[in-house]
Amino acid sequence: MSSETIYLDNNATTRVAPEVIEAMLPYFDGHYGNPSSIHRFGGNVHKQIEVAREQVAGLLNAKPSQVYFTGCGSESDNLALQGFYRRQGHCTKLISSSVEHHAVLYTCKYLNRHGAALTELAVDENGMLNLDDLKSQPMDDRTLLSFMWANNETGVIFPIEKITEIAKERGALIHTDAVQAVGKVPIDVTATPVDFLALSGHKLHAPKGIGALFIRDATDIDPLLIGGHQEGGVRAGTENVPYIIGLGKACELARKNMPEENTRVRALRDRLEKGILATCKGALLNGDPVARLPNTTNISFEFIEGEGILLLLDEYGICASSGSACTTGSLEPSHVLRAMGVAYTRAHSATRFSLSRYTTEEEIDKVLAVLPGIVDKLRSLSPYIKSEEVQVPLPVQG
Ligand code: PLP
Repeated sequence: MSSETIYLDNNATTRVAPEVIEAMLPYFDGHYGNPSSIHRFGGNVHKQIEVAREQVAGLLNAKPSQVYFTGCGSESDNLALQGFYRRQGHCTKLISSSVEHHAVLYTCKYLNRHGAALTELAVDENGMLNLDDLKSQPMDDRTLLSFMWANNETGVIFPIEKITEIAKERGALIHTDAVQAVGKVPIDVTATPVDFLALSGHKLHAPKGIGALFIRDATDIDPLLIGGHQEGGVRAGTENVPYIIGLGKACELARKNMPEENTRVRALRDRLEKGILATCKGALLNGDPVARLPNTTNISFEFIEGEGILLLLDEYGICASSGSACTTGSLEPSHVLRAMGVAYTRAHSATRFSLSRYTTEEEIDKVLAVLPGIVDKLRSLSPYIKSEEVQVPLPVQG
C-alpha cells in the first residue's frame, strides 16, 4: 500500500500485521515439515499449530480442542450449516435473518432447496432483529439458528447473548457468523454458549485464505471435506501451516490490544461520522447508531450514486466501499439496506467507511476535507437535485 493510500475498507479486508508476517515467514522456509509426519521436523510444526489453536481459543475463551482451522470465513459458515444438515438430514429446520452475509444467506437457501425448512426473519429500519419474532418460531433439537454477530455493511451488532438464551431454552442449536466481530468486540463463548462460531483471518490482520470454526461439540456435524484425519477428522487436508500460525498471532495481538484499540478506533470513527453528517448535505446514517461495531459507519448521500463517491475518493487515494452493495456488473442495491426498508435511491448512495488499528487522525481529517466537495460536485451532475436544494435532514422516504 502506498503511503498516500488512506485505507478505510477494513470490513472488506485488512492489512496483514507486520508481527503476523514475521511469525509466518519461518513456516515457508525453515519449518516446512508436514505436521502429520512422525519425524521431529514435522512434529515441531504440529506443536506450533497447537500453539496457534490456543491463541485463537484464547480470543474466544474457548477450549483449544473446540477450534477447527478452515480455508476462510465462508467455509466456516458452510461447515456449520451444511455439516449440521448432513448430520440431521431432511428434518433440519434453519432460522436465520434477511441481512446475513451471502455465505450464510445462500447456503441456507441451498439447503432449503435440498429439503431443510427455512425461516428468514426480517429486521427493522435500524437493521435490528425483533426477538419476539424469533420466540414465536417452533424449534427443537433439529433446529439450527444462524445469526451474524455483526453486520459487515452497517456494523450493526445482533443480541447474540439473548438469541443464544432463546435457542438453549428451546433445545435448538445456534451458529453465529462472527467474521466481522472477532477482534473488534469481546467474544466469550463460555459466557455466550453458542454451538458454532465462524471467523476469518483476513478481517483481523491475518492473511486471506485462513479461517476457523469454533465447534462446541463436533458430533453435531458431519464434515464437508473427507479423506484425512486432520482437524480431528472434521476438515480433511494437509494444514495451511504458515497461515494457521499467522491467524494465531493475529488473535493474540487482537486479544492483547482490543480494549485500547477499540477506544481509539471508535473515537476516530465518531469523528469521521459526525464530521460527514455535519458537512455533507443530505448525509444520512444507515443502521443502529448504538449497537454497532466501533470501526464501521455506513452513510447515504441522497441522490448520488455510491460508485461516483468511491471513484472520486479513489482519486485522492481514499479507499471506501459501497457496503458490499453492488456486485460487479449489477446495479442491485445492497440486500442488507433493502431488508432494512431503506429507499432505493438512499440505498444506492450508501458508502461504508471501515477503520482499523492503522487508521490515523490525519487520514480522517483528509477525508473530511475532501468529501463535502465530492458530494457537491456529484450533486451538481445529478439530474434530480442540486446540493443547495437538499434539506437537512432529508425527509425519510418509504
Ligand atoms: N461473513 C461475513 C459477515 C463477512 O463479512 C465475510 C466477508 O466479507 C464472510 C462471512 C466471508 O469471509 P471470507 O472472505 O473469509 O470467506
